[in-house]
Amino acid sequence: MTEKKYKNSNLNNSSTISVVSEMVMESLEEPPLVETIDKERQKKQNISDSSKEFIKKHFPNTTIEQWNDWKWQYKNSITTTEQLQKFLHLSESETIKEDNVEKYLPLRITPYYLSLLDDFDASQPLRKTVIPSVNEYYIGKDEVLDPLCEHGDSPIPNLVHRYPDRVLFLVSNTCSVYCRYCTRSHMVAKDCKEIFNDFEPAFKYIEENPQIRDVLLSGGDPLLLSDGKLEYFLRRLRAIPHVEIIRIGTKVPVVLP
Ligand code: SF4
Repeated sequence: MTEKKYKNSNLNNSSTISVVSEMVMESLEEPPLVETIDKERQKKQNISDSSKEFIKKHFPNTTIEQWNDWKWQYKNSITTTEQLQKFLHLSESETIKEDNVEKYLPLRITPYYLSLLDDFDASQPLRKTVIPSVNEYYIGKDEVLDPLCEHGDSPIPNLVHRYPDRVLFLVSNTCSVYCRYCTRSHMVAKDCKEIFNDFEPAFKYIEENPQIRDVLLSGGDPLLLSDGKLEYFLRRLRAIPHVEIIRIGTKVPVVLP
């Protein structure tokens, strides 16, 4: 491969170019450039062998760069049982009808998280956290939609104030995966426009209660909000003098690499 070809490529990392050059020197055969770049990226981005196998098997036309892009992961999430069956051998209790998935907590798993699941073992703990089961549709007589009784401690629609110095601020109803154990499954992924349209009453409540020093942003997942929207929450809360701590409850870092 000539120097000219390197210059025409999109490579702009001198160390990558240097490694590629050395490999060319060592071999009479030219290594495919894309493959070489991918190998370097894999090293830098620490892709595990099992992830590589998974990508090769299920997403053969996907680059490591795409795999490591959270937007690609979100866009290619698995949302139906039909899709899921292409990746896993589902047990009888995991084979559920789509209309049930729509009616109750929906199915959503990112390809990365799916790559961590056992193909066959329906009792694998991680698998049980994200794969729906028909048992979810059995509602026991003592079960309630809001098991933590958050509604009872909610002075403002999207605020839960249970402990004097802290509040839970629900800012979104969308998640990167839907966990089968979710205690807020009655509102995540549901049509809750009325509580996500106007956040000013919640800010006003926090401003008027100086004992609140800790605000936990949750939902849904706040890290799925746009940067602008997230900044809006952080700026508004930072401007309240008695708020000392702002926390973000999120699953994004573990499901979107
Ligand atoms: S709110 Fe949290 S626990 Fe519930 S589905 Fe979303 S990420 Fe999972």
